[in-house]
Amino acid sequence: MIRFKSGVTPFVIQQYYDALTTQGIPCVVRNQFISGAMGELPAQDLEQELWLINADDLVFAERVLTSLKEDNSAEAWVCNTCHEPQDAEFNLCWNCQSPKC
Ligand SMILES: [Zn+2]
Repeated sequence: MIRFKSGVTPFVIQQYYDALTTQGIPCVVRNQFISGAMGELPAQDLEQELWLINADDLVFAERVLTSLKEDNSAEAWVCNTCHEPQDAEFNLCWNCQSPKC
């Protein structure tokens, strides 16, 4: 387990979580249900955190989040080289790095 993201709103954590799980990256949200303890714990302990189950996924996970910030109006596509399905926001194949065409 490795802590991946914190210090953002619960909405953003959820958005990241959805994006990573869509890409098949196992991850968990910590402190998801702790808001009931607000006022009893220091603020930093109330912050939601996104953790990756496998530290090896870190680079790919960062790439997924980077792609979230780009235009996602395009449609999903399939790599012409290796035939892996790609999410619309990627312009390079995640598997073989061939460009989208
Ligand atoms: Zn490919």
